[in-house]
Amino acid sequence: MDYAFPPTPVVTLAVVSGKPFPVRRIYCIARNYADHAREMGSDPEREAPFFFTKPASAILHGNPVMPYPPATQNLHHEVELVVALQSGGRDIPVDQANDCIFGYAVGLDMTRRDLQAAAKAKGQPWDMAKGFDFSAPCSAITSQAQSGVIMRGRIELKVNGQLRQSGDVGDMIWKIPEIINRLSQLVELCPGDLIFTGTPAGVGSVVKGDKLEATVQGLDPLTVMIG
Ligand code: MN
Repeated sequence: MDYAFPPTPVVTLAVVSGKPFPVRRIYCIARNYADHAREMGSDPEREAPFFFTKPASAILHGNPVMPYPPATQNLHHEVELVVALQSGGRDIPVDQANDCIFGYAVGLDMTRRDLQAAAKAKGQPWDMAKGFDFSAPCSAITSQAQSGVIMRGRIELKVNGQLRQSGDVGDMIWKIPEIINRLSQLVELCPGDLIFTGTPAGVGSVVKGDKLEATVQGLDPLTVMIG
């Protein structure tokens, strides 16, 4: 095929002891831990899950430096368990959802919180608060064959060695199979899709020079410098 200009290469994530994972799309669920929903001022008991997206090009991989983004004075960290899909479909039943999972990674749903607050106040979309360049740092993927199905485990974020976020992925309001089920009722899920599964409490600001260390028990850790 001859193109008007060279097509963008496929975004990939390394796989622990495996071939690279080609990223297709990035879906994120909002307010999926009760303690974080409360810190953002909403009632975790009464809300159906809702989703937003980031472009695949937002992936930052290889424990790199994240350039401090433009147009914000309040860049927030959100540590999340990331689910990587090897198959997809529509209306995936909860009891078949885990079969779609290729593996798991640790991700950061980096957020321009000031832009998000402004968007919320005006009833505008979150895209520019969530889907900006380098907004999705992500670790290598550990295959589900290696990790087993993940249903619980510590999830933590340290900034400059200080613990900022600490939770357990078992405390998600919507469990991973339920997220896959709900999302597949809205879009046809595909191999290569990533799902950021929400963040526990303790989100906060980072500035240039900060070192972020994100971990989920049993997975490859993620270290990011803000530059
Ligand atoms: Mn998030």
